[in-house]
Amino acid sequence: MDKIAVLDLQRQYKQVGAEIEKRTLEVLRSGHYILGKNVSALEEGVAKLSGCAHGIGVANGTDALILALRACNVGPGDEVITTSFTFAATAEAIALCGAKPVFVDIDPKTFNIDPDLIAQAITAKTKAIIPVHLYGQPADMDKIMPIAHKHNLKVVEDNAQAIGALYKGRPTGSLGDVACISFYPTKNLGACGDAGMLVTVSADIADRLKLLRGHGMRVRYYHEEVGYNSRLDELQAVALLIKLPYLEGWNAQRRELASIYTEELSHCPGVVAPPVAPHTTPVWHQYTIRVLGKGMRDRLQTELAAQGIGSMCYYPVPLHLQAAFSYLGHRAGDLPATESAADQVLSLPMYPELTAGEVKRVCAATTAIIRTASAVPAGAGQAG
Ligand SMILES: *Cc1c(COP(=O)(O)O)cnc(C)c1O
Repeated sequence: MDKIAVLDLQRQYKQVGAEIEKRTLEVLRSGHYILGKNVSALEEGVAKLSGCAHGIGVANGTDALILALRACNVGPGDEVITTSFTFAATAEAIALCGAKPVFVDIDPKTFNIDPDLIAQAITAKTKAIIPVHLYGQPADMDKIMPIAHKHNLKVVEDNAQAIGALYKGRPTGSLGDVACISFYPTKNLGACGDAGMLVTVSADIADRLKLLRGHGMRVRYYHEEVGYNSRLDELQAVALLIKLPYLEGWNAQRRELASIYTEELSHCPGVVAPPVAPHTTPVWHQYTIRVLGKGMRDRLQTELAAQGIGSMCYYPVPLHLQAAFSYLGHRAGDLPATESAADQVLSLPMYPELTAGEVKRVCAATTAIIRTASAVPAGAGQAG
């Protein structure tokens, strides 16, 4: 049987590769490599898709988070509320600005920050909130924004995994004060290397971000503040521009595959398919199930791999229990919903070029493995 990779970027390259190679050659021959017409066109296109007036291209999604926090005047002594169940970059950005990440537990259904726990985490030092639209599922922004307004906090959306998603009909990225997008190759809109963008409705924040990404310089060699070198280059921008018109169709294809997964897995005991929150249109950056029962997630992953089926665990260790954040003094048990998700989640193959037949094969294999494992617990040994 053919293998089913957890992600196969070569399939997408077959669709767009010829055009990317042609236009890349044009950029190479043009002699203009950084912040040119392709970057501008991409900024305009991504801002529009995100329901924002401004797009600011930067070097990667992590830089986008750092610059967003800096533009919101987050610095040493400040606290920023976020989720512990995310990629490390979300909290790294807070720490790199000199601020303290304050982790709030998740809603076990959506894997996103639980808005009902935010208010009790706010102190006099709190400056901002970073909700993450994890796995392409929008966070509950209509509950988060009123809390932010009441306490005069900025909201930075980590939209690295959810470009194109809708929350109550509005695009993620347009719901907070500023949003961060990653074009890392594995994201729903992926470059051929590192790239990122910020989008915002605020002209003031956009202006500050443009300053910060280029050494705090508005007029060449006159530096208004200490900034960064975080510019987007024309080679990445041209590849992303070619892919941009496909994004809506690709996201629709992910939704189609997700509905097949959910239907097929509804008969599999011990597996919880990801529910879709009301009034949201997720973009299924990942299709992530929960596998119930001690050790069952790891067992499923190992046995799927033995059948040539890839899967990934995003993320096995929540940030509050990572060595990098041990200085915050957390211990196991502090964030129960987050910790239980980290023990149970498994992301199955998901990309627009995956076929319905492949999804059904993953589901059949998953169901068979879980049924057998439930009948014979791990380590029980065969009779005889
Ligand atoms: C990918 C990702 C980032 C960082 O983006 P890079 O472009 O890799 O720097 C930040 N937050 C989340 C949730 C991500 O998935």
